[in-house]
Amino acid sequence: MSEPLLDVRDLRTEFVTDDGIVRAVDGVSFTVEPGQVLGIVGESGSGKSVTCLTVMGLNDRKLSRSTGEVLFRGQDLLHASGHRLREVRGNEIAMIFQDPMTSLNPVHKIGRQLAEAVLLHQDVSRKQAYERAREMLKAVGIPRAERRIDDYPHQFSGGMRQRVMIAMALINNPDLIIADEPTTALDVTTQAQILALLKRLQEDFGSAVILITHDLGVVAETADDVMVMYAAHIVERGPVRAIFNEPRHPYTWGLMGSLPRLDVNVERLYQIPGQPPSLLNPPAGCRFHPRCAYAMPVCREKEPRLTLVPGDPDHAQACHLDEETKRREAAALLAQITAGAAT
Ligand code: SF4
Repeated sequence: MSEPLLDVRDLRTEFVTDDGIVRAVDGVSFTVEPGQVLGIVGESGSGKSVTCLTVMGLNDRKLSRSTGEVLFRGQDLLHASGHRLREVRGNEIAMIFQDPMTSLNPVHKIGRQLAEAVLLHQDVSRKQAYERAREMLKAVGIPRAERRIDDYPHQFSGGMRQRVMIAMALINNPDLIIADEPTTALDVTTQAQILALLKRLQEDFGSAVILITHDLGVVAETADDVMVMYAAHIVERGPVRAIFNEPRHPYTWGLMGSLPRLDVNVERLYQIPGQPPSLLNPPAGCRFHPRCAYAMPVCREKEPRLTLVPGDPDHAQACHLDEETKRREAAALLAQITAGAAT
């Protein structure tokens, strides 16, 4: 079998705060194959963004500690030099953030920022770099790209700025794009356009994508595989069809039950009760137990391990419930959702 593009093994990241140690990522392992789209889903504070910032080497090394391995094409980025990480970032791995204004420099024209991203990593002339910038602006659907290359970021709408960020991410044809809540700040229509654009360009360019989102609906159309995170752990992972058709974890059921649907009119969407735990002092046993309607005594004592779903070597979940109950409850939830009764 060929080597995965990204192979994250037993990743742990902790931050030292005045109140104690926050274990933001706690024993996370996953792989990304070339051209694969992996959706990482979970509420705020689940560890999904910190996982990806650690992969990129973007955590403050003075305030955080990470252990494990982040093998990118076989090379461990967790222990790579600052020089090597700068080579990788923006060239082999690119990142798209929720708010493009945090990544775009407000005092420089868009064309200059795109061209400089090319010049930083490629041996081309300034003229060729600007030509590439123009091509990319056209590829992401910026109207009148020839003229807009001379505009500043504030002259673009939110959706257009996110298109510029996608152009910036793809401009050096990276092997992996990490998109962290790329559409959260956008209205629903623009969100759908940006996701469709990202998917089309991902297919054209052949890049792998890690798509981080709190919204399970965002990954439904975009991802090949889904990893659900809760309180710094992976609680379920599998191909998108398995997660949507045969979800096996009560937290995933909660996320699915809270999805808005166009074909079903509900007065109020379901909400998972309670809040995610503090990672300074997470609950013992299953970290989801204070919010879980199915919690049993064992859930308060013993941490469930991520194990394969019987009969599906690609689908894994971490829950003490027996298989029969999981199957029955998942089927009941899907039936409720279909009937529009998930209120
Ligand atoms: Fe709920 Fe227990 Fe499963 Fe955790 S292990 S999700 S508390 S049933």
